[in-house]
Amino acid sequence: MAKQEDQFKKVLSHAKEYGYVFQSSEIYDGLSAVYDYAQNGVELKKNIREYWWKAMVQLHENIVGIDAAILMHPTTWKASGHVDAFNDPLIDNKDSKKRYRADVLVEDFREKINQKIEKDITKAKKRFGDAFNEEEFRATNQNVIRRQKQIDEISAELTRVQEESDLVGFKQLIVDLGIGCPASGSKNWTEVKQFNLMFGTQIGASAENSTQVYLRPETAQGIFVNFLNVQKTGRMKIPFGIAQTGKAFRNEIVARQFIFRMREFEQMEMQFFVKPGTQKQWYEQWKETRLKWHLSLGMGAENYRFHDHDKLAHYADAAADIEFNFPFGFKELEGIHSRTDFDLSQHEQYSGKKLQYFDHEENKSYVPYVVETSIGLDRMFLAVFSNSLQEEALDNGTTRTVLKLPAVLAPFKAAVLPLVKKDGLPEVAKKIIEDLKWDFNVFYDEKDAVGKRYRRQDAAGTPFCITVDHDSLEDNSVTIRHRDTMDQKRVKISDLKEIIKQEVDVKTWLQKM
Ligand code: ATP
Repeated sequence: MAKQEDQFKKVLSHAKEYGYVFQSSEIYDGLSAVYDYAQNGVELKKNIREYWWKAMVQLHENIVGIDAAILMHPTTWKASGHVDAFNDPLIDNKDSKKRYRADVLVEDFREKINQKIEKDITKAKKRFGDAFNEEEFRATNQNVIRRQKQIDEISAELTRVQEESDLVGFKQLIVDLGIGCPASGSKNWTEVKQFNLMFGTQIGASAENSTQVYLRPETAQGIFVNFLNVQKTGRMKIPFGIAQTGKAFRNEIVARQFIFRMREFEQMEMQFFVKPGTQKQWYEQWKETRLKWHLSLGMGAENYRFHDHDKLAHYADAAADIEFNFPFGFKELEGIHSRTDFDLSQHEQYSGKKLQYFDHEENKSYVPYVVETSIGLDRMFLAVFSNSLQEEALDNGTTRTVLKLPAVLAPFKAAVLPLVKKDGLPEVAKKIIEDLKWDFNVFYDEKDAVGKRYRRQDAAGTPFCITVDHDSLEDNSVTIRHRDTMDQKRVKISDLKEIIKQEVDVKTWLQKM
């Protein structure tokens, strides 16, 4: 745990030091769980968004995008169920005065038991080598069986108290499990209360004429209310999807995990409209497609896992998370939900307008079913950033800090470095920049010894360094250094564009899907 915490602290300080993420309004001591993306962060975030958009919209002829407003008619949120039910159960510790989400306390407790199982499995794997059979081990090892039983019992009770909104039972579960305050260890808890996560505000000048509206807590509803507009004007045939990226706001109870849980964040969502009865098949297909998208970035298959929901939201007939191995353990990165016809039917009912699709093949109208993929852009940023940050021991006994961002996502693709600040080298370097900047973000740096500049670019995540030396004046060649391997090669200046393109091109990466 201490090692994980250390790694997480490094992620935080590195994100600030290298211009990725700043605390919002830092000069006023910050605003809790709100962050600003800095000069490098904004580029990384934009590249992740684009990587998603290309995979989801550009490469699917039956998926189109929209950009709906953040403010929507307030009835939207009545229809969607958010006014009545977008609640989290909160609990306070009377001694430490810290506030927690009751479900997260229980989930974290359960995860600790799971970690123990994983540890036993890793140990046994080492001991038995190739002969190890995980399935058999899980089925026969007494410690694992006992722990798994405990996990299943906790899950069942957690599902029950959530489904029945049994707040007394929720508190009892925390007490029975002996869960203490993570900050202080105290078990002196208040009752569990429900807390609505929507931020409200007013439209209108005077108090009497103003209308209560909400900052959208998810982007999905902007898609549902536009379903028919898009279907008709785009002449879309089912199955088809509508995608959107944009800000969402939630007044999160506990927001202590940097950009993992923010009060203002960005989502990338896609609602896929299908014929009723086919939703299961599309749900499975989108689970697979989305996992492939993640894997295409090369961040290690072992860092992802599916978590199928035991507790389904009232609108869903199947739901799973893609969890990622964050510095604080496996946590939800993306959700894939089979939402039935709940949303469109609700909007039909509340608006009095038909939101149906006329299926020519079937010769009838119906309310389509929806399979949704929903990922947090900021969480994806954290996954990429934390996974890429590495300390590497070098042959000469020193270490280097390197941010091994997938090259396709890196803010700057290359840094151009004149070996010295004179003799016409900066001029050649600037000419290279002039040429490359039309295709890539490139960075110029002439300060300090070149070794130091390499380290700076390694830590900033730049995949290539291009060094201009005195020979360049004669042979029109430069040294190109690769961030990950540190290999250096002499190449023609005229070949640079192609060399960089091969490694950073979206096509090269997405074709791995
Ligand atoms: P959690 O259980 O972690 O609160 P959720 O199940 O409420 O998440 P969804 O409503 O399914 O999340 O939202 C879809 C995605 O949006 C999540 O998978 C996550 O990546 C992202 N997301 C949700 N809430 C936040 C937040 N407060 N900050 C950053 N990203 C978020």
